[in-house]
Amino acid sequence: MLSNYKEIVTNFASPICVIAGPGAGKTHLLADRINRLLKNGGSKNKIRDTICVLAFGNDAVQRMKDELTNPKGDWKLPFPELPRILTTHSLGLEIVKEKPSDIGLLKTDLEVQENHKIQELMYRDAAFILDFTEEDGKEAGKCKRYGDCQKQTSKNKCKVCMKYREIMSKCNRIDFDDQLLFACEILENNPAILKKYQEKAKHLLIDEYQDFNAVQFRLIDLLSRESRNGLFVVGDDAQSIYSFRGGNPKFVLRFCQDFPGAEFGYLPYNRRCPKGIMRIALTFLQQKYLEYKGIRSVDDIDFTNRSENAPYVWEAPSELKESAEVAKIARSSLEEEKTVLILVPKKDLLPLVIKKLREYHVPYDCDENFIPDRIKVANLFIEWIGKQEDNFKTRLIIEQLINAGSAKVPGMKKDRRCSSETIEKRVAEEKKIAKLWERVDKHNNLFSVISNHEETEATFVKIRDGLNNLINSYVGWEGIDQGEFVKQLSAVSGIWVNPSKLIEDLGLVSKLLVPQEISVKHIASLRTMKKAKGLQADVVIVVGLENDIVPDRRNDVVEEARLFYVSMTRAQQSLYLFHSSRRPCDISYSESNLEKDRSVFLNDLGLPSTNKFPTSSKKI
Ligand SMILES: [Zn+2]
Repeated sequence: MLSNYKEIVTNFASPICVIAGPGAGKTHLLADRINRLLKNGGSKNKIRDTICVLAFGNDAVQRMKDELTNPKGDWKLPFPELPRILTTHSLGLEIVKEKPSDIGLLKTDLEVQENHKIQELMYRDAAFILDFTEEDGKEAGKCKRYGDCQKQTSKNKCKVCMKYREIMSKCNRIDFDDQLLFACEILENNPAILKKYQEKAKHLLIDEYQDFNAVQFRLIDLLSRESRNGLFVVGDDAQSIYSFRGGNPKFVLRFCQDFPGAEFGYLPYNRRCPKGIMRIALTFLQQKYLEYKGIRSVDDIDFTNRSENAPYVWEAPSELKESAEVAKIARSSLEEEKTVLILVPKKDLLPLVIKKLREYHVPYDCDENFIPDRIKVANLFIEWIGKQEDNFKTRLIIEQLINAGSAKVPGMKKDRRCSSETIEKRVAEEKKIAKLWERVDKHNNLFSVISNHEETEATFVKIRDGLNNLINSYVGWEGIDQGEFVKQLSAVSGIWVNPSKLIEDLGLVSKLLVPQEISVKHIASLRTMKKAKGLQADVVIVVGLENDIVPDRRNDVVEEARLFYVSMTRAQQSLYLFHSSRRPCDISYSESNLEKDRSVFLNDLGLPSTNKFPTSSKKI
């Protein structure tokens, strides 16, 4: 075990896994390691070409590059001297492009398909082509997302995976997860390509190791096989919050078993959180997550901010009051030139917070957009008209037509409100549509297949006629009769059947187009808790901490606890934790909208709730 910074950063005698808690300076550590490699490595170009840095997302890649090249920073590297810094997925795609023929793809026009709706439909179609169930399709989707798909297997789910792969290759597309799965396949089957990439990754540095899943592990295992001592990973098992894609703290915990001779290192610093907030957060974490690998006591951590200020737990009488208080705190903090981060446990809480921020003239940014689905659907149809050969767009359009449009087949949701006969009929239609893929090839796209289908299936005829009407009316778009097109679009797609919805949509869109007035230096960032990683702010506000929302009962409670820990440890000065005594039931997971209890997580913090206006206490 290494706990001395210098020992960690200069150790080249074994693989290392460095546990770096919130604000411990892991970007700095990685940059330091890179800088030392470049300086001590003799011929600069030569060593540079053997360094590969894997970061979690594009933002993290950019932060790493900024850290290394910042003219005011510690390293001041000229941009051309940077080693390779990229995400695991872009490295995967690069490897796939070395030999796409291995997986039945063409080199030209190979793209990554990232639309989740399409992905879901493709899995369902693949399952239905094989006469399996929709559930088998969902299992296949998980199998790929978790990164442990087995090519040779008798399991239904992986047969679906292979059928899905066949459809995707007809369209010359791979999906997000395939970038890694296919890369591993190519490396395993092509020793020359493997050797080339091993040479380029003799020094393999990895950030956010706690978010790795099985396929990412397989990839770095392959790449580092000939040079294990160059493996340098940084992570924090307490911040492992991506189990939905197979991420698991086990890869951190078992690092020394996976790589014999490996060492753990610890960074005993916190340059971000006040000591008081960290004390509460760390005590909470250890009650819930017993395997925690990091430093267990705040007294063993060197804090820059030694303030013992505790988090502020605020009980609002209603969700309206809660949002108003949030807006007030955000506004006064921004006026004091502080940065503000507002976190919500689920997206549904965002619209009300946004509404209040707008009312209080607080500038904000939010990475979710709330354009009504109807407008997204209208846009899809218009895009499709210009690109009818796009099989995935055609597939989405067909789905819209049978869900709500001119070829409507009842039973879309297949829930309790549908009779078993309705569901049966619906599934039969979905299977017929799925099987259209069997006729798609490089010369026949999905739209031409359905247009030239010889059978007189009622649903196919309706889809065909509807789409032809739409295309024909679009001819008149150039000023002749736009009204006719909108009328057809409404009839065929099933949106705006009620004209007042059209008026409502126009109102919403025009509101979205009104620019925000920005008169302060900073703007408040609004995110879901899952997207909080990598972020920090002077003032962090978490809303919706009620018992039926946090922890989310559908998820693992230990991971939910880690998620709450990650959220709290974004704070650089103040942390406000909000819960409301009332919340509409369509937002919480429970039936009633009265008398909400605060989250058990708040009880575990051991802090009382108060309902005094928080801004008055915050100057203490
Ligand atoms: Zn599979």
